[in-house]
Amino acid sequence: EFGDSAALADLLAEIAAAPTHVDAAPLIDGVAVPDRQRDVISPIDGAVIGTVQEGDEAIVTSAMAAARAGYPAWSATPVETRAAALERVGDLIEENRGRLIALLQSEGGKTLDDCVSEVREAADFCRYYAAEARRTLKPCMLQGPTGESNELRYRGRGVFVCISPWNFPLAIFTGQVAAALAAGNAVVAKPAEQTPLVAFEAVKLIHAAGVPASALHLVPGDGKVGGLLTADPHVAGVAFTGSTEVARLINRALAAKDGPIAALIAETGGINAMIVDATALPEQVADDVITSAFRSAGQRCSALRLLCVQEEIADKVIEMVTGAARELTLGDPRDPATHVGPVIDAEAKAKLGDWIAAMDSHGALRFRWDEDRALPQAGTYVPPAVIALDRARDLKHEVFGPVLHVVRWHADELEQLLDDVAGSGYALTLGIHSRIDATVAHIATRLPNGNVYVNRNMIGAVVAAQPFGGSGLSGTGPKAGGPNYLHRFALEQVVTVNTAAAGG
Ligand code: NAD
Repeated sequence: EFGDSAALADLLAEIAAAPTHVDAAPLIDGVAVPDRQRDVISPIDGAVIGTVQEGDEAIVTSAMAAARAGYPAWSATPVETRAAALERVGDLIEENRGRLIALLQSEGGKTLDDCVSEVREAADFCRYYAAEARRTLKPCMLQGPTGESNELRYRGRGVFVCISPWNFPLAIFTGQVAAALAAGNAVVAKPAEQTPLVAFEAVKLIHAAGVPASALHLVPGDGKVGGLLTADPHVAGVAFTGSTEVARLINRALAAKDGPIAALIAETGGINAMIVDATALPEQVADDVITSAFRSAGQRCSALRLLCVQEEIADKVIEMVTGAARELTLGDPRDPATHVGPVIDAEAKAKLGDWIAAMDSHGALRFRWDEDRALPQAGTYVPPAVIALDRARDLKHEVFGPVLHVVRWHADELEQLLDDVAGSGYALTLGIHSRIDATVAHIATRLPNGNVYVNRNMIGAVVAAQPFGGSGLSGTGPKAGGPNYLHRFALEQVVTVNTAAAGG
């Protein structure tokens, strides 16, 4: 990520100068509303790094009312003006990168590389949706019969609720909010309960960039607060990124509520496989597996969970992967040399620990990063692990951490393997390693996964270049950072005028 060591030194100085404590609260019309307060704990070392006031039923009701009141003015604001404000958000995010990175590290436990790319992604989302709004949300005349004119126009849907996860607490939070605002909606945003501080800072920057405080409101809180927001009759749409289970709950809440039939954009989990045939290059596969499975401590929705390697090269690939995993540096993510930081909280650590222990008791654990090496005591660290499975279908749920599962397959088992992979119902990312074009084409056509990475790692989702998202249990589409995303946030209106009657 860094061109030279002076650039790295500058960045480290900016991060060091950032405040180490933030007190976050709901922001309704830009005003902090006091409510239930709790401490925010760092996964790095258990330190208290701030406080957050969380929302409740009364706060949700007043945030929704404030958003309804703010909607008409923001919706009537010309798309050019809305886009210009979002472009300024992109600039402000970059100008405040030290402050944001410091929070992404202390609150999210993210490594420096991950933080730098997340800040860039957040700014890119703002600029991309601004440009897309300018390009695609302008009114246009449609061809029609003589004697009438037909104009297609776009407007916001009303109040959009944006609910985001902790694993990209700046980029996903900002991306959802920017898209909803660009399309002319008023927004009530709820960040994940683990990462309210970076969201609080982001909202302040968005307001400072010129988005009126009446158009964007923040309600921190847990799933209960999310449930209250999605049950509100005035919700016109929900942008949700998180687990498949919660997407289902939101679907049900929207179906049961009064008021408009709400749009749901859901981006959810995956059981992501990489299929490696005997023609693949083991060194490259091992490199790509390490990056795809263990970067960000495996806490990416796109991360590799299931390595499916053909028997002929399986021993070699597994040996190289475990060898490279042994060399990973695990620890404090504020150290630029760290590869794998902590997982997000004690609950995640316990869940992963239980899974690894259960697999170990079945004799399936093939590798565990040596715990005797000095691990920070207080943080929530999970050493990388590699688990052997008989069949791809044996992995039935998303294991969200630095845990890689491996299956071996014979040449005559490819079709069965593809059925097993598809059978999970998830269709997010897919890796393919093969030097035979026909094999690559066959696998990519047979499986419906939203993002397919061929002969490379599975870290992607570059705004505009690699729009991201899946189908089935992995989401509703359209893809974030792609050309169809913004339109799901907008209403279409066609105005047909009898031009003959008007004398035209
Ligand atoms: P989560 O589903 O537990 O929580 C996500 C958000 O939903 C949080 O803000 C949470 O408070 C809220 N929530 C919880 N219960 C709710 C309810 N009943 N009603 C409304 N909101 C509710 O997910 P997480 O643990 O924060 O994030 C990890 C998950 O996100 C993984 O499954 C990962 O694959 C997925 N993810 C997907 C993508 C993608 O683009 N497809 C990107 C990042 C993360």
